[in-house]
Amino acid sequence: MSNSNAALEQVLKGRLAELEHRLSRIKRDQTQEHSSDSAEQAQERENDEVVDAIGEETRVAIAATRAALGRLDEGSYGICENCGATISEGRLEAMPEATHCIKCAA
Ligand SMILES: [Zn+2]
Repeated sequence: MSNSNAALEQVLKGRLAELEHRLSRIKRDQTQEHSSDSAEQAQERENDEVVDAIGEETRVAIAATRAALGRLDEGSYGICENCGATISEGRLEAMPEATHCIKCAA
C-alpha cells in the first residue's frame, strides 16, 4: 500500500468512527421514553421522524465508507464505477466515499 493510500485509509477510518458514534447517539435518542402528554407526544413523533431520517442517512454513509475502505484494499479506489476514469483528487477530498467521477455523478 502506498503512503497516500495509508493516509486515505486514516481519513476513511476516522470518518467511519465518527459516523458510528453519531449512529449510536441517534439510537439512544430513539429509545428514550415518551411523554404521556398528547401535545408533547405529537412533537416527539415529529422529532422521531427527523431522527429516523438522519439515522438512515448515517447508515447509508457508513455503508459507503466501508465500501470505500474495501475498494482501497482491492486497489480499485478512486476509479469511477461507471466509466473507469480516475476520480479527481479534489472530488475525493470532498467526498472520500465517491464511487463515480464528476461526469457520471452529475
Ligand atoms: Zn465516470
